[in-house]
Amino acid sequence: VSTVVESLTKAPRNIAFPQKDGRPQLISEIFGQNVFSFKQMSSRLPKPVYSTFLKQLRGNETIDKTTADAIAHAVKVWAMERGATHFTHWFQPQTDSTAEKHDSFLTLKSSFEKGFEEVECLDSLSGSQLLQSEPDASSFPSGGMRSTFEARGYTIWDTKSPMFLQEGPHGTSILYVPSVFISYNGQALDEKTVLLRSSEVLAKNALDVLDLIFDPENDERVNQVHTSLGTEQEYFLIDRALYTLRPDLKITGRTLIGGLPPRHQQLEDHYFGKIPSRVLAAMSECEYELYKLGVPCKTRHNEVAPAQFELAPIYEEAMIAVDHNLLTMDVLHRVAHRHKLKVLFHEKPFKGVNGSGKHCNWSLSTDNGINLLEPTAKPEENYRFLLFLLATLKALEDHGDLLRAGIASASNDHRLGAHEAPPGIISAFLGDHLTEVLNAIEEDRPLKTFGAPEMQSVRVGGTVLDLKVATLPNIARDLTDRNRTSPFAFTGNKFEFRAVGSKQSVSFPVTLLNSAVASSLKEVAEALRKQKGDKQYATKEDQLAVIKQFIKITKNVRFEGDNYSDAWVKEAEKRGLPNIVNSYDAFTRLREPRNAEMLSRVGVFTNEELESRYHILMEKYAKDVRIEAQTLLTMVVQLIMPATFSYRKDLAQAASLLKDVEAGCEPELKVLKELTPILIDLQKAVVTLEAEIAATDDITDDIAALCKKSQAILLPAMEAVRSYADQLEGIVGDKYWPLPKYTELFLNI
Ligand code: ADP
Ligand code: MG
Repeated sequence: VSTVVESLTKAPRNIAFPQKDGRPQLISEIFGQNVFSFKQMSSRLPKPVYSTFLKQLRGNETIDKTTADAIAHAVKVWAMERGATHFTHWFQPQTDSTAEKHDSFLTLKSSFEKGFEEVECLDSLSGSQLLQSEPDASSFPSGGMRSTFEARGYTIWDTKSPMFLQEGPHGTSILYVPSVFISYNGQALDEKTVLLRSSEVLAKNALDVLDLIFDPENDERVNQVHTSLGTEQEYFLIDRALYTLRPDLKITGRTLIGGLPPRHQQLEDHYFGKIPSRVLAAMSECEYELYKLGVPCKTRHNEVAPAQFELAPIYEEAMIAVDHNLLTMDVLHRVAHRHKLKVLFHEKPFKGVNGSGKHCNWSLSTDNGINLLEPTAKPEENYRFLLFLLATLKALEDHGDLLRAGIASASNDHRLGAHEAPPGIISAFLGDHLTEVLNAIEEDRPLKTFGAPEMQSVRVGGTVLDLKVATLPNIARDLTDRNRTSPFAFTGNKFEFRAVGSKQSVSFPVTLLNSAVASSLKEVAEALRKQKGDKQYATKEDQLAVIKQFIKITKNVRFEGDNYSDAWVKEAEKRGLPNIVNSYDAFTRLREPRNAEMLSRVGVFTNEELESRYHILMEKYAKDVRIEAQTLLTMVVQLIMPATFSYRKDLAQAASLLKDVEAGCEPELKVLKELTPILIDLQKAVVTLEAEIAATDDITDDIAALCKKSQAILLPAMEAVRSYADQLEGIVGDKYWPLPKYTELFLNI
């Protein structure tokens, strides 16, 4: 109680936005302050060096030594002007977060003065230090690709992502050098190397398709294609003091015990509601930090569940967006701390209310500003759009199960298919209009008209919707409505991959999606090539023929209805679409020859790299579940049972006292009798769970078997323990209960 009262009376921390001319600085004045941007580079580097750098960057060449030295010097000066004492290669091992090891700028230079050594200190950063570093990599997950005795791993500066400064201790700062992480043999040990590879092959194959349909009379030449990504981050915020009283949250990120309070999300009043002032203060400080880092935060709001919120940035090139999402999670975590709040990124921290996801908004854009997934007003005539749309559908058709593998984890399993998030069936939603466009083309018939005639006055991006209220302006209607139940929804000019977990790095799912689309674009290119024969480029008729062909072969994966319904599960089964309900099944799909062969063909994963992923994921799953199982055991044995015992003891003593004075002890006895069988069942469930945990110890050499057993046996055993513990929570006197309950966790900010 005192903790609750204490945290309720806490005044929100408010930092003043830095002022300029007597007003808070504008976002545009703060934005990117701590980023060594291209603009910074061009102003600080000699012109020839800067243009060599750009040339090497564009040509995907390695940066030469002289250029690297010059950049290292320039960035060091820039960083030191801003208080930097250290630099670090910042990379993304397969842990869903980032890694860093700081080195100071300090170097010693010795000279000999009359036979005596004189040591001089310098602040330096050399080109080779900037380009490459060698962390002792043996303690990062490698899935058996390296054994500890050959622990060499290298981090290499990813020249495409800008360097930036983060706060260090005592007012100093640290220079961050975004890097990839590879083994001695050049195998990817991280998330970024494969993402870069997948973006490259996707760009190449997209350019190939564009070349094939390039009409020199009417089209502008495209030189570059890149993947755009916008990541909507959902999260929970709870009071930090209460959080520290929950071992399950601290150790596993989710509550392993706890029942719903009478009021949670059923009134639907939290979504887009007024943001609590303490939360708003934290959000705003977080955004301030992120602006300085050049992260384009755009939207903040309350989410569906109590204490759940969302932060969405403006989309960026995929690898930058991934860096920025990881930074966002990191900054959110640190800033929440300052506000005595705790951010929970877990996909399902609370049973019974919505969990969190990270919608990945994905599209392809060209260097001349065209979004290849922009339908324009008449998608039926926009063949380029249709080809790219269909290539994406084909990727889902062929590799939906692979995409499902990319979002599988012990934590996301609690969310997917739980009637709040898309099921384990990967399908795509297109909306009425596009569905009709594809159907009409397939059936060789004219397009049906949409809605009332006045809505046909077409505007780019959609039709005009008349609101029938004179004072309100007419609005442009999107070509698609929303379908919140689809795991992969077309939302106007991009696909929204909605099944991605809130806690995971989006790098892996986006890498798999890029790879699958790269592969299907290759098929589109082959079909176009065949169709065009000797002609210079594929004509409209050629393109239409290919479009028709692809409409037919991707029909299966389109679904417009309610993805949460049981009817869809049946329908999907009829269609032969895989319904993958748990991570173990999902991970096995990485090894499917159809998937593995594609990933190696497009050059994103070697078989060895893929095999190592498979191992890391299976192993991580087993470890996650085991940690949860053990945490639950400890909590029940050390907290829940003793609390129940105390309550029983008090009830029993009261009953016997009351009996002595002949006051009637039936009410106390009634509660005692109610408690006893539940406690007995709880103890039995604990014994079973203990035995199952011990049994998993026997599985030592088969990681898949261990994963499967954790999922099939440990999870249900934990569920049984929880069900009895939750029953007790409802009966045992509140002052005896040792954990803050959902009511307090939800309503206390
Ligand atoms: P919604 O509310 O429908 O989810 P928003 O327009 O708010 O969509 O956008 C959600 C996210 O999608 C934002 O991060 C936004 O920047 C991003 N986004 C918008 N257009 C694109 C695009 N063409 N490609 C990738 N992401 C995009
Ligand atoms: Mg969205």
